[in-house]
Amino acid sequence: MFDRPLRSAILAAADSTLVRRAVTRYGMRLGAGRFVAGESAAEFLPVARDANARGFAVAATILGESVRQRDETLEITSEYCDLLRAFAADGTDANVAFKLTHVGLDIDPELAFENASRIAAAARDGGATIRMDMEQSRCVDPTLAIYRRLRETFDNVGFVLQSYLYRSRDDLLAALPLEPNLRIVKGAYLEPPSIAYAKKSDVDRNYVELMELALSQEGYTAIATHDPKIVEHAIAFARRHALPERGRFEFQLLYGIAGPLARSLVERGYRVRLSIPYGRFWFPYLMRRLAERPANLAFFLRGAFARA
Ligand SMILES: Cc1cc2nc3c(=O)[nH]c(=O)nc-3n(C[C@H](O)[C@H](O)[C@H](O)COP(=O)(O)OP(=O)(O)OC[C@H]3O[C@@H](n4cnc5c(N)ncnc54)[C@H](O)[C@@H]3O)c2cc1C
Repeated sequence: MFDRPLRSAILAAADSTLVRRAVTRYGMRLGAGRFVAGESAAEFLPVARDANARGFAVAATILGESVRQRDETLEITSEYCDLLRAFAADGTDANVAFKLTHVGLDIDPELAFENASRIAAAARDGGATIRMDMEQSRCVDPTLAIYRRLRETFDNVGFVLQSYLYRSRDDLLAALPLEPNLRIVKGAYLEPPSIAYAKKSDVDRNYVELMELALSQEGYTAIATHDPKIVEHAIAFARRHALPERGRFEFQLLYGIAGPLARSLVERGYRVRLSIPYGRFWFPYLMRRLAERPANLAFFLRGAFARA
């Protein structure tokens, strides 16, 4: 993954207007639907309910990022609030995870804070939690600052740390006094070696260190990975430290990836949350999934040729 030039090439191609146009036009038909539960809430909600029926909790994400129009951020915020009300109305076991650049971070951090507060309030009213995804490294400081401000009012708010960043251990240490609701991931963006581990083995090692540190302190940790070795390591660590199977941590996986691992964890009694995204702006999300596993690209291209 991290050592491969193909990953960088796919992430770089994601910035090309030509590639975006072509993939956006044909991608849903070619196989984006494997990772994305449709383009609307009406398509998403039955998928979320079906995931609940199969024993999974859900994290809902409306796809989109780097929004530049204030009105658009207000609409997205309202859509998240509507979604949370829909979950509360029919008892869907789901929270929401969103990107701060989707709700205004690139326009004005104050706007992103206000929008995130509205989403947090709607979640609190329905007894749900929210998590703010972690985006490119330029977003880390403003995201953590907004998290801290939200925590002054809300206790149903969480954030994400990426194990490819050198700084994440310090960020975790700084957040621990807040008993954070935290998601740990490896990191999905292209970051330079001046701030991020380039070797996969270093990213994996740091993941385990962050996870052990988080699990050994108060708070709630979402172990978000499809890496079976790390998952088994987490289970062994939790057993050694007599952590309950529910209440202190959960596993999180992305919709459409590592289904057998997700199902086996549910069967073993663990809390497992599927991150299920929907929406029209699925292109950057799809490109990150292809970059993580270039075999997915072959799957995609096979779809293209089969239909040609
Ligand atoms: C619930 C969740 C939330 C996330 N939120 C964020 C976030 O806020 N910010 C962020 O930067 N990143 C986020 N990510 C993405 C994350 O950073 C990684 O890019 C991604 O999870 C791949 O890493 P991995 O932990 O699965 O380990 P890897 O070592 O990459 O993969 C382990 C194994 O998982 C399988 N696998 C991994 N990726 C794929 C794929 N795309 N398709 C098919 N199989 C695959 C393969 O079998 C692989 O061998 C999130 C991931 C998850 C699961």
